[in-house]
Amino acid sequence: MQLFDVAIVGGGPAGSSCAAFCAMAGLQSLVLEREKFPREKVCGDCLNPSCWPVLGRLELAERVRNLSHSKLSTVEFIAIDGRGVTVELPSGADGEISVKRSLFDDLLLTRAREVGVKVHEQTTVTGLHRNDHWNIETASGDFFQARMLIGADGRNSTVAHLSNLLPRPARERVALQAHIPLPRDFGNRIVLQFLREGYSGQASVNETQLNLCLVGTPPTISALRKWAERQFDLPPNQLWRTITPLTRSPIPPAHEKLLFIGDAVRVVEPFTGEGIYYALRSGELAAKAVAKVLRSDNSNSALREFGRAYAQMYHGRLWINRLARAAVLRPHLGSLFVHAARFRPAILKLLTGKIVEEL
Ligand SMILES: Cc1cc2nc3c(=O)[nH]c(=O)nc-3n(C[C@H](O)[C@H](O)[C@H](O)COP(=O)(O)OP(=O)(O)OC[C@H]3O[C@@H](n4cnc5c(N)ncnc54)[C@H](O)[C@@H]3O)c2cc1C
Repeated sequence: MQLFDVAIVGGGPAGSSCAAFCAMAGLQSLVLEREKFPREKVCGDCLNPSCWPVLGRLELAERVRNLSHSKLSTVEFIAIDGRGVTVELPSGADGEISVKRSLFDDLLLTRAREVGVKVHEQTTVTGLHRNDHWNIETASGDFFQARMLIGADGRNSTVAHLSNLLPRPARERVALQAHIPLPRDFGNRIVLQFLREGYSGQASVNETQLNLCLVGTPPTISALRKWAERQFDLPPNQLWRTITPLTRSPIPPAHEKLLFIGDAVRVVEPFTGEGIYYALRSGELAAKAVAKVLRSDNSNSALREFGRAYAQMYHGRLWINRLARAAVLRPHLGSLFVHAARFRPAILKLLTGKIVEEL
């Protein structure tokens, strides 16, 4: 059986980016992914401008721009009473775009394959044992071996669960998502709309489709769905994807011969649209750490350095996440904020700028 340098569980943005960077550094890399790509995923599909430099280092920026996408020019915040305020987004080639996850994630995984990563799709990791190496069991009965392991398997990480690290999820909220026909004159906006029962995020993803996300609590989510059916004239049998939890405690990313990245470490508030950036960048940081751990005698110092770089990635930013969470958990508070920003647009400009320009 081949002994890989590194096995990465999960082929989302975190896993694919980590795998590609590992292979580019000369490591024998393996990705084990539960689904068959291309696949959709519950997400707002918005790509924060901070992703471009990482995509550039993966030599993917141009190919992402060639995917069917929408260039987003404004974000409109709408209060419960329907009144709103609009903030311009940075323009230019490195601005914010929205692109379906089926296209984006598939391109990243393809890139990993191109640079030499061995990828097994429809392969669900179910068991882990560690002696000299990691022995990885899968649902299909296939086994794999690797010197290091990366948990890139999202917010309900199996790797974290099997390592007794997965915190109890706070199932206080649930998200629904669908791609629906693009309403006429919707334009290239992101809409973040506070509603009595939660909130909705909307963005065009191409010339014919709108990404529609609804976030509520288990008791309010069906009222939100009914609102969406009325608002967008949807059939009652509209198919929705769903995901939970929207919040859970973070876990430490660095462990002996085991790293976690992306949503597996920390779930950020979807409202801020930053999760894909953190996934890509943490994949890059982990690849550097894996190469150091495997090639040096002092693996502890490489792990400590990774932990510090990881914390630095969020430095000075988690307050935005907390603020967004406070606003969406109490939509009336969020609405008050929108009203205040109508008279003092600088507040929202500053916050939006923090999110889309200064990561
Ligand atoms: C409603 C909502 C809207 C959002 N909108 C945005 C947005 O607009 N912009 C943005 O940047 N972020 C957004 N996010 C966050 C973003 O979706 C995540 O941060 C991002 O997908 C994290 O990437 P990841 O690679 O860490 O995990 P994931 O994308 O979840 O990938 C994990 C992969 O692991 C695989 N996997 C899981 N378990 C196993 C297993 N046992 N064995 C093998 N494979 C496994 C899964 O199939 C999956 O492909 C949103 C999130 C939500 C909930």
